[in-house]
This record gives sequence, structure tokens and C-alpha cells, in this order.
Amino acid sequence: MSHPPLHVAVIGAGIGGLTTATALRRLGIDVDVYEQAPALGEIGAGIHLAPNGSRLLARLGLGTPLHAAAVQPAAMEVRALDTGAVLVRQPMGKLWADRFDGPHYTLHRADLHALLAAQVPAAHIHLGRRAVAVTEDTGGVTIDFADGTACRSDVAVGADGVHSVLRRALAGPERPVFSGSAAIRAVVPADDVTGLPANTLLTWTGPAGRLLAHPVRSHRAWAFVAVVPDPRAAGDSWSRTADLSALRAAFTDAEPAARTLVEAATEAGHWSLYDRQPLPRWSTARTTLLGDAAHPMLPHHGQGASQAVEDAVALATCLARRGDGPNAPAAALARYENLRLAHTSRVRENSLGGGSERLSTPPGAPDAPRAGIGQLVRDVALAQSYDVEADLAARV
Ligand code: FAD
Repeated sequence: MSHPPLHVAVIGAGIGGLTTATALRRLGIDVDVYEQAPALGEIGAGIHLAPNGSRLLARLGLGTPLHAAAVQPAAMEVRALDTGAVLVRQPMGKLWADRFDGPHYTLHRADLHALLAAQVPAAHIHLGRRAVAVTEDTGGVTIDFADGTACRSDVAVGADGVHSVLRRALAGPERPVFSGSAAIRAVVPADDVTGLPANTLLTWTGPAGRLLAHPVRSHRAWAFVAVVPDPRAAGDSWSRTADLSALRAAFTDAEPAARTLVEAATEAGHWSLYDRQPLPRWSTARTTLLGDAAHPMLPHHGQGASQAVEDAVALATCLARRGDGPNAPAAALARYENLRLAHTSRVRENSLGGGSERLSTPPGAPDAPRAGIGQLVRDVALAQSYDVEADLAARV
């Protein structure tokens, strides 16, 4: 079916925004991306790309470069934080890929970001453009930027992350919900740590806290995240630096492999963990949201990037299949929202008390992680086995 041409303005060149641009371009839709940062840089630490995300990127033609940039852990292991005793070992690798129809990858966020950025011509990524306002009329949408410029488009997509300006424009001010804990993230050279099993997704658990680690960068580095109590919420920012001496002090009684990992960090990011209640709706006639702007969630199921990838593919497909007439974009955005809102709300709710929290060891319950890992696999199955394209096809 041929339609009048459509132009889409994507606000935010994160994982979600760049995947959206990639998917739209493959479907022949004209797109420009506007990013507040002056450069696309080496930001972030370790990130998970679960099978529900990796299989979609493979269908977008990125399977080979993704496999080269990522690590596919062969197993998941839960260890006691104090003794290092292996409490549970769950094979992953091919078994996981077969079960969930796609590999579970771990990688540096910067590597995934660079791979996606390479799919969009530089002329269509506009840097240093911070969106400050969005105004809709019957013919399209205007986005104003902090530098005094503006752009005009048929459809605007807010892929501008957890502090989304477009979300505020659509939904008004809201209070994020603080979880009481923080994620301290860092990446350390593999040569600086010893005693870690190769190619394994590790969780150490004990009454003092949890530490998760996985290899990145072709095993040349390990990324870790420590989930620790956070008495003073520091804002949901990715740019705050962690206090390394406090981090080391929190893990002084940990087994040597966990301790050397923490001690090898020369810098780490501190992210107070916030969540937001699902919105009742996130689209208007010409504007919609995706990724963390639409449905920020706690990171315990490692689904942030994969849900953004699902949104991107779903939105691009709905826009490509729009009908004719002036209401076609609005109908496509409504279809996209209808497909994604209930599913992402379920995934978000599941991640509230799930993920590695299920593997914690309350005092007097040494077998808890063994029971917890079965529950964790059942929990992540909801998100990881879901195929957004199959769901979309079934609804047409
Ligand atoms: P994001 O990845 O947050 O991208 C949002 C983009 O929008 C950013 O590039 C931001 O600069 C831009 N933006 C924001 N406001 C505006 C505006 N007003 N105008 C224009 N552009 C705007 N997750 C992990 O698991 N591990 C990590 O190490 C990690 N590091 C991160 C580092 C950074 C700097 C950011 C922004 C996010 C990080 N995340 C990390 C979060 C993770 O990328 C997301 O949860 C997930 O990928 C969903 O992506 P998203 O595209 O919805 O949002």
C-alpha cells in the first residue's frame, strides 16, 4: 500500500531512539533524531540484551555485529557473598537461546549504542539539540529546542529517557517512586581481577547486599553492579559518581573474587533506583513515547534496553502500516500504544521485587537462592519469550 510520505522526529539518541530510527529507515520512513548531548560518547557500563531484544535486532540485520560486540554468557551462577560457595548454577548459552529463541547477551552500553548509531546517517542525527517544548496541531507537530531552533514533523517520538520532556508535556508533572536502593556500576579490566569463572553471569548474595557481574568487550573487561541500600536518594541521574571508599567498605567481608572486582574499580557511577507508575496513556494524535520515557522500570530483570527495542520495532511497524487520510498517524500511534502499554506495565510490575532480589539470602534461609532461581527463570520467561512482532501479526 502506498501512503503520503511521513516524517518522524525522534527526540533522544539513546538505545530506544536509535533503534526506532533504524527500524523506520528499513521500512522506508523518513526520520531525524535530535539528541541533547553534544556528542555520542562512551557512556554507561554493563547492560543486558535479553532474547526478546536480541532477536529483534537480528531481524533488523544486526545479528552479526551484535554477536561480535557482545558476550553470550554460558551460565548463571549464584554464590554466597561471604564464602564464595556456589549455591546455584543455571546453564545459559545455547540452551537459553533455544528456549527463548534468541541469545541472552551482556555488553557495554557504549558498544550497543555505537552499533545502533552506525545504522543512522550522521546527517540525520542532530546533536546538541535539547527539546524543551512540543506543540501539536492538526497538520503536524513542532518541537522547540533550548538553542532557540525548532523542527516540524508529522509525528514526534519521545525517546528522551527517564526525565522525558515529552512525557511531562503529555502527562504533566509526576513524582518518581524511590526504591530505597542504589545501583553502583563500573567496568574493570579483566586483567585486574582473578578467581572469576569464565563467561558467567554472576550474582553474589548475602545479608549485606548483592553484587552482579558479567564479562563485556570480548571478555577483556568485567562489568559489575552492586545493589546497596541508598539512604539519601540522589536523583535518578546517570552522571553521579559513586563514593568508591564506601563501596569498598560495604564489601570488605566479601569472598576474595567479589572483593577484588570491587577493589579494581577506579571509578563507578551511582544510580539511585527510581520507578514510575504506568501512565494511563502515552500517545496523542501526533506524539508518542517509548523506552524509559514511556515506562521506566527498576533494572532487576535487565529489561530496560530490550523493552525499548520492542517499542521501537512495534512503533515502526504500526507507522509503516498506517492507513490513508489525515487520521492515519493518530490511528497508528493508538495501535502502538495499545500493543505496548499493558505488556510493559506487566514487565515493570514483575521487575519490582523480582530479578536478583529473588536470589537474596535472608538470615537463617541459606536455601533461599536455590528456590529463588527457579522463580527468577519463571519471571523472566514472561518478558524473554514474548515476541512483539508475533503479537502484532496476531492482532491484525
Ligand atoms: P536512554 O538510554 O536513557 O536514552 C535517552 C536519550 O535521550 C539520551 O541520549 C539522552 O541524552 C536523550 N535526551 C534526554 N532528554 C532529552 C531532551 N530533552 N532532548 C533531546 N535529547 C534528550 N542502563 C544500564 O543497564 N546500564 C548502564 O550502564 C546504563 N547507562 C546509561 C547511561 C546513560 C547516559 C543513559 C542516558 C542511560 C543509561 N542506561 C543504562 C539506561 C538504559 O540505556 C535505558 O534504560 C534503556 O536502554 C532504555 O533506553 P532509552 O532509549 O529509552 O533511554
